[in-house]
Amino acid sequence: MTFRLLRAGAVASVLLLAACRMEHRPMPTATERPFGKLPDGTEARLFTLDNGRGMRATVTNYGGIVTSLVVPDRAGHGADVVLGYDSLEGYLRATPYFGAIVGRYANRIAKARFALEGKAYTLAANDHANTLHGGVKGFDKLPWAATPFNDSSQAGVRLHLASPDGDEGYPGRLDVTVTYAVTDSNELRITYQAATDKPTVLNLSHHGYFNLAGQASGDILGHELMLAADRFTPVDSTLIPTGELRSVAGTPMDFRTPTAIGARIGQDDEQLRLGKGYDHNWVVNGPAGMLRLAARVREPHSGRVMEVRTTQPGIQFYTGNFLDGTIVGKGGARYQRRSGFCLETQHFPDSPNHPDFPSAVLRPGEEFHSTTVYRFSAQ
Ligand code: BGC
Repeated sequence: MTFRLLRAGAVASVLLLAACRMEHRPMPTATERPFGKLPDGTEARLFTLDNGRGMRATVTNYGGIVTSLVVPDRAGHGADVVLGYDSLEGYLRATPYFGAIVGRYANRIAKARFALEGKAYTLAANDHANTLHGGVKGFDKLPWAATPFNDSSQAGVRLHLASPDGDEGYPGRLDVTVTYAVTDSNELRITYQAATDKPTVLNLSHHGYFNLAGQASGDILGHELMLAADRFTPVDSTLIPTGELRSVAGTPMDFRTPTAIGARIGQDDEQLRLGKGYDHNWVVNGPAGMLRLAARVREPHSGRVMEVRTTQPGIQFYTGNFLDGTIVGKGGARYQRRSGFCLETQHFPDSPNHPDFPSAVLRPGEEFHSTTVYRFSAQ
């Protein structure tokens, strides 16, 4: 039976390839190679997802990390637009979550604790008193099971993780599937699915650091950003939301019309001071659950444009404020403050302690599902 299925699959792939060749359509491809050894001796894998039209991503099953993302500029020249390392060792040594899948709970939970259905849970405090991006060993530091795939319009890899009950203090066994696909419309499409066997909380995100001029091109202050958000969640001195949903009007958080990232970042503003720059969650306009535009970024010299669409309620815009020049990344590039920015689609930070925020609770029998699309073009 399995052999028959495999044979049928192989025949289908050959037919698809032949059909694409006859029409002279480029065929998206997913290939795989070794990517070094994890401390326990298991081999990490690296998947190359190529849409055949100038866009190519490499993704490792360690942490679900997108290690490179090559997209064309207005002249058709490709550049790698994400920060990271050349080899697995860098990611194992120290990483500010470069390109990773973060979970179970992306972003912060105050004082590393929450209560759910009358029970109190204590998590690992790895960001002063708070928990950040899943704790000490979050989803970004685990090997995921990986299955590559391709069809006539996309090349991808499906990643699966079974996080045991009590993992980093979180209740319930969580089965998570994250699928990356590079599509023929120059998108990096990420879908997240999860199910639990006990009530739990969950926030899954992708932590890519982008520089649309190329990963070794200096700072991102000249990129023009639009955020489709009328409100943001102001933070306290530990970057935990106060609970308020504040209007962006008249503040340096107003990106409703395209504005250079650096235009107001140095202003004397309480929120910018607390974040050491931008490190905040914006409330994406429109109904959560629907794929809608959250952000658009344009880099004027290369002409590269990135649009972010998501079904998630929020988006964290972070300007790499904690990069300090100590990290030597790909090709020997030294990543200084503001040499990359993140647009992390998410539930609001600390939602488990804010009953008024969109709920991040998942119960047995429910399926969590979310989609985020990073779409690239050039003008
Ligand atoms: C957070 C920053 C944090 C960074 C870690 C971002 O998602 O918003 O506060 O320092 O991740 O690299």
